[in-house]
Amino acid sequence: MFQEKEQFLSRNEIEQVQLEKLKKQVKHAYDNVPMYKRKFDDLGLRPEDIKTLKDVAKVPFTVKNDLRDHYPYGILAVPLDEVNRIHASSGTTGVPTVVSYTEQDLNTWSDLMARCYSCAGADDRDIIQNAYGYGLFTGGLGFHMGAERLRAMVVPTATGNTKRQIRMMKDMKTTVLCCTPSYALYLIEALEEEGVDPEELSIKIGMFGAEPWSDETRKHIEKSLHIKAQDLYGMSELYGPGVAVECPEQDGLHIWTDEFLVETIDPDTGDVLPEGEKGEIVFTMLTRQAMPLLRYRTRDLAVINWEKCKCGRSHPRIMRIKGRTDDMLIVGGVNVFPSQIEDILVGIEELGEQFQIILETAKLDHLYVQVEVSPQFWGKVDLSELSAKVGKSLQESLTLRARVELLEPGTIPRTQGKAKKVIDKRKVI
Ligand code: ADP
Ligand code: ZN
Repeated sequence: MFQEKEQFLSRNEIEQVQLEKLKKQVKHAYDNVPMYKRKFDDLGLRPEDIKTLKDVAKVPFTVKNDLRDHYPYGILAVPLDEVNRIHASSGTTGVPTVVSYTEQDLNTWSDLMARCYSCAGADDRDIIQNAYGYGLFTGGLGFHMGAERLRAMVVPTATGNTKRQIRMMKDMKTTVLCCTPSYALYLIEALEEEGVDPEELSIKIGMFGAEPWSDETRKHIEKSLHIKAQDLYGMSELYGPGVAVECPEQDGLHIWTDEFLVETIDPDTGDVLPEGEKGEIVFTMLTRQAMPLLRYRTRDLAVINWEKCKCGRSHPRIMRIKGRTDDMLIVGGVNVFPSQIEDILVGIEELGEQFQIILETAKLDHLYVQVEVSPQFWGKVDLSELSAKVGKSLQESLTLRARVELLEPGTIPRTQGKAKKVIDKRKVI
């Protein structure tokens, strides 16, 4: 097993490592990131005040907007020439969230991802096909580096080109498939269309993450592909994928708590909740050099279970993500905020103010935007040209293809209360 010792640390050992690292990390953040120095000084808090693990509750939170407000390099805790790579995820208002890594950070991330593969049941003999997107998105390179660190073999197919994915799977005798759960569902249909019997494939494990999926979906995927479908969680602010992963027990995702100190808070008051209560998950990165995020609010709601797992690991488990505290939508693994869509539509003068976002599953998750044309332009503009223009703007900004339907002014039902801008019709299999 990869990093077996770290995977099987006892709770005592975890807490010892955490406290040692936490003290150093708080000092690193305070000394090198002006934002943290300011936040601490405002509270009259000094790094030396953090003496026990419980003291972390005194540390101010970090939120996604802190990253945007300090775009692009404002949260760096090392000189720019020590940064080896950046990644970015699309932002709500056009400002991307940029994250940076030193050589040591990339090394730690690779280890964490290799640990995830190992915990999920893969090893160095596996042939790992990586169908996550390569590029600014952390999925592709994260899964890639982890597979190499595991000393397995990688088939870096990236997203799309389903026929070639299937061909590679067959010809390379892929044993581990990495992609979003929605893409796995799509692949199942595509295999059927191509007349490929999943029995002909060698896949035994799927590493599916980046978006929420249900137990029903898991059963469907496992039955259709004859594999074990493992859930994996992460986010770009916390390196990327690799924060937590399921073991073969499939009873929650083990968080690698020797690297990530985890808390659950009440999203309204910010108070730390007792163990086992559902709340917003907050992480402190214990060794990240370039961007030492302290108490990062994920907006993800979940329950964390600290009971020792049947597999023997003491790292606590996220018992599935139960939703978010904000309105972020995840469409085929891509994060989309309704406000982002609104910003784009408002910028197109021929459009009216009323719009609806409809999410549907047609093979892959689909974004479908209905928007009214502005009364001044109705009957005067070429509708197919206008809808192509809207579609192009959405695609450029969201990196997501959307189906656009233009409506006559007054078509979308008006409500007295809060308009229902998002209609989620996605079926859960
Ligand atoms: P990712 O590369 O994982 O998509 P992003 O930073 O783009 O990273 O998005 C992170 C968000 O994606 C998380 O805060 C969470 O809401 C969602 N997410 C990631 N993995 C999972 C998962 N396994 N289950 C549910 N939601 C997930
Ligand atoms: Zn386990």
